[in-house]
Amino acid sequence: MSSSIDRIALVTGAAQGIGKSIALRLAADDLHVALADLPRAQEPLESVAKEIEATTGRRTHIVTGDVSNEEHVERMVRETVERLGGLDVMIANAGVIRAGTVTETTLENWTTDMNVNATGTFLCFMHAGRQMIAQGRGGRMVAASSVAGKKGHPNQVAYCAAKFAVRAITQCAAIELGQHGITVNAYAPGAIVTPMREPDSTCALEENTPIENYNMADRAAVQKLGSADDVASIVSYLVKPEAHFITG
Ligand code: ADP
Repeated sequence: MSSSIDRIALVTGAAQGIGKSIALRLAADDLHVALADLPRAQEPLESVAKEIEATTGRRTHIVTGDVSNEEHVERMVRETVERLGGLDVMIANAGVIRAGTVTETTLENWTTDMNVNATGTFLCFMHAGRQMIAQGRGGRMVAASSVAGKKGHPNQVAYCAAKFAVRAITQCAAIELGQHGITVNAYAPGAIVTPMREPDSTCALEENTPIENYNMADRAAVQKLGSADDVASIVSYLVKPEAHFITG
């Protein structure tokens, strides 16, 4: 891993929620940050970019696109390299949730969950991995799994399947890329309060299926819900040079 102070991160799903918190945190940690999200999130992305530039003086670049589209992901990585000077940290955070039981989920909902969450992570790791290997200065990759990626949950078959897949992709990438000084990890949050969980939110993902939070705090060992910043703190550590021995 390079000891250069000018490290560069690409964060997908950076317009809101956990992705936005991660982008702000990495900038506060002195990284330049490329902010990726769907085209409809242009305005919130601009406000995240403004906040980063005003509070940290770090450089940003906005790139819109769909993480389940290979050309878009290839462009996200290419523009990050061209505009910010390289790619050291890939945060494959963009995600969606479509609820549904095994017997009732539509194929469309299944495909959306799998395409964005699983294929999107795979494409980000593929193109970021190629870039990091070519640069030859190591790197850090982090994906968004979930407690739903460790254990089955009712009414979330597509989401659970996709988040299990994210863990598999993460472990495969970790095994293959370690020799290049690249670590690959995933966070698996449980009860986190973000726009994804607020039915009346004006977030970019208004068609997401709202998830009930009512008894999640009770079920958590610490008896409370977490925040996006709590996840960002973990990611901040995982991408530091000193986290070189944590992977998979
Ligand atoms: P979380 O609770 O994980 O933070 P959010 O719904 O708040 O979830 O944020 C997910 C982000 O991912 C949103 O900003 C959303 O626009 C983005 N996103 C969703 N689908 C895609 C996609 N196909 N390509 C890029 N970004 C996406």
